[in-house]
Amino acid sequence: AKAGGRNNFQFFTQEMNQTVQERLVLEGDLRVAIERGEFLLHYQPQVEMSTGRVVGVEALLRWQHPVHGLVAPDRFIPVAEETGMIVAIGELALKAACRQLASWLAEGLPPIRVSVNLSARQFRQDNLPAVLLDILRETGIGSHLLELEITESSAMDNPAEAILHLQGFREMGVELAIDDFGTGYSSLSYLKLFPVHRLKIDRSFVKDIDTDTDDAEIAAATIALAHTLGKEVVAEGVETEAQCRFLQGQRCDIVQGYYFSRPLPPEELVPYLRNTPVP
Ligand code: C2E
Ligand code: CA
Ligand code: CA
Ligand code: CA
Repeated sequence: AKAGGRNNFQFFTQEMNQTVQERLVLEGDLRVAIERGEFLLHYQPQVEMSTGRVVGVEALLRWQHPVHGLVAPDRFIPVAEETGMIVAIGELALKAACRQLASWLAEGLPPIRVSVNLSARQFRQDNLPAVLLDILRETGIGSHLLELEITESSAMDNPAEAILHLQGFREMGVELAIDDFGTGYSSLSYLKLFPVHRLKIDRSFVKDIDTDTDDAEIAAATIALAHTLGKEVVAEGVETEAQCRFLQGQRCDIVQGYYFSRPLPPEELVPYLRNTPVP
């Protein structure tokens, strides 16, 4: 689908340039996509630096559009957010990711975590804990094998409320990560109060980590701070060996990026796991 090139995606131009007409078509298509179940997930491995093992996968949404082919989330999630459709789509993603993990476990794959992205709107939904409990019960996966990723900005939107929601998830045994860390404005005092297991250093800091001293220092400080608070660090967007080496030197716990693997369709992830050490 990526090979299809950008032209296939012209229909979904940057939101700012979208005509009202295009936007209405996209909204209508999204509604149909929810009914017809046109969404699927790709899975990107997360590698533990100390052992080289795959300890988890991040589930990333894709839309198999009947005309435009495989559509990346940046093209439709903003509109799904604005219209509220993200709540239904996000629920589908949560359910699909947990079902996928249950089926891998049934096939005898060693247990790994599956991380699912939560939109700000989903995170605020009062019935999310009930939805989660249903999914965990239906799929039978251990709650500690599910990780929810909440962006720093959605956590900081209303930190006091976020802490309550996070505590609720934590009591269910679900693991938690702050996504895109460093791009928002969380104060250190809040970071201490967020009951999360991990921080994910945003790709924008990882990109020039081995050449830009500012980025290197930010990453090093983030890792040290997280460890002081008893949290693990995941670096996202790791593309080169040099970035990897730097992160290893800083004792980053987990790495994720094209250097190891692109997000893979589930049928490609299994052979990848079979050829890579897993716990
Ligand atoms: P994110 O959560 O920050 O996910 C990481 C993005 O970086 C993914 O893009 C992934 O494919 C990409 N990536 C991974 N490794 C590398 C690398 O080495 N280099 C580069 N350049 N990129 C890398 P993707 O799959 O297009 O997803 C984009 C965003 O869409 C995600 O960013 C997330 O914010 C959102 N998203 C994806 N799935 C879901 C979902 O189920 N629910 C919600 N609410 N948002 C989702
Ligand atoms: Ca993420
Ligand atoms: Ca991220
Ligand atoms: Ca990001």
